[in-house]
Amino acid sequence: MPEFTPSTTQELSEFLQANAAGERQAFQIVGGGTALEYGCPLSKPVTNIFLKKLNRVIDYPTRDMTITVEAGMTIAELTKTLRAEIQELPIDVPDPKSATVGGILACDVSGPRRFGHGTLRDFLIGVTAVDGLGRTFHAGGRVVKNVAGYDLCKLLIGSFGTLAVITEATFKVQSMPVPMADAWELIGFDDLSQCDAAIANLSSSACRPVAVEVVNQKAARMMAEANEEPFHSTPWGMAVMIEGSEADVHWQCRQLQSEWENLDGRVLHPLRDYRRKTWPPVKPQSTVRVTLPPSKCLNFLEVADAMDVALSAHAGDGVVIGVLPNDSAPSLVQQLREKAHELGGRLTVELCPSEWKKELSVFDQSESTLRLMREIKSKLDPYDVLNPGRLFS
Ligand SMILES: Cc1cc2nc3c(=O)[nH]c(=O)nc-3n(C[C@H](O)[C@H](O)[C@H](O)COP(=O)(O)OP(=O)(O)OC[C@H]3O[C@@H](n4cnc5c(N)ncnc54)[C@H](O)[C@@H]3O)c2cc1C
Repeated sequence: MPEFTPSTTQELSEFLQANAAGERQAFQIVGGGTALEYGCPLSKPVTNIFLKKLNRVIDYPTRDMTITVEAGMTIAELTKTLRAEIQELPIDVPDPKSATVGGILACDVSGPRRFGHGTLRDFLIGVTAVDGLGRTFHAGGRVVKNVAGYDLCKLLIGSFGTLAVITEATFKVQSMPVPMADAWELIGFDDLSQCDAAIANLSSSACRPVAVEVVNQKAARMMAEANEEPFHSTPWGMAVMIEGSEADVHWQCRQLQSEWENLDGRVLHPLRDYRRKTWPPVKPQSTVRVTLPPSKCLNFLEVADAMDVALSAHAGDGVVIGVLPNDSAPSLVQQLREKAHELGGRLTVELCPSEWKKELSVFDQSESTLRLMREIKSKLDPYDVLNPGRLFS
């Protein structure tokens, strides 16, 4: 079957209906094509369905602070549309010129500012999607027909395109202060107990940071080299982001610096723009993403640092992204995973050499969760034609 590039949801629905009634060919859904190697290897030969022609704004009632767009729209285009009305969707996306609305929803992308703003689950209020049988459904905001029993909006976030092809999404958005400003403050520590005290201090601070990042020295060196600017020379660094109106940011930065005078750290050169300096800065061979109870985040960092992993953590949310040394083996992932489990967390392998995927599970789900996921998949995509095997076999 040839590749398919639908121009409307209707076209896609008819195509998948014909497929379900006919040869039941399997498909890979392609947004910007920037994250197709994430997840498990596909278990069947596939043909691509490209979403690039589904790139329009459907509805933007600015005063309601919601926007409905097609799923193939790039994040850069969405941002430009919202900026024209001094609004934003405050989700950090690493490659906004290529990444699409459907792709970030399928991958459940989030970045440093999830601490202050939340994740896509907090902003997506409606979707239109087409399931594996070609049935179009609408869920959430601007509901045409809701599907009783499931919150399908939430279900599709992080589903890696295995349940349905997202064709439209409605987000609630935020207004931006004018003029909008942001700044990063950076403090360096010799050991993690000092960092722990600094994080604890933030909970009683007069400032309202939107991001709290903790970075080890190996990661700092990688970032400094890639960005050709100094980062920090201490074993650990904590970068805190403030955003708001210019006056507010100015006040909060000064306040934070004065609060930090009482801490055992070294206030360092503020960063120019840490958020837009993508982590990891160069494409590594292997990265892992660990989600932990926030109070256990530093325990994990300490262990992984001793294993020579470059670490950058959204410490306030308990999310750690680790770049493994190039000569590492799957056994290192296994050790890190065991530590994550011991601390009540989970470890997902984001990127790794493809041969590792034969002996390692990419995702980290319990048997009961997998049973539930298979059950849901069997309802929406009974012939397993959408991204087969990407989340589980
Ligand atoms: C956990 C994680 C961490 C990441 N970290 C980084 C990072 O640090 N740096 C970086 O540069 N990038 C990173 N990425 C990749 C980045 O987030 C992607 O650029 C973006 O999410 C994918 O958008 P895309 O449109 O290119 O999707 P694609 O690459 O086209 O697709 C991604 C996945 O979503 C599915 N999909 C795409 N569109 C739809 C749709 N409309 N409906 C249903 N399924 C669809 C695809 O089949 C595929 O499984 C990360 C991704 C993940 C999952």
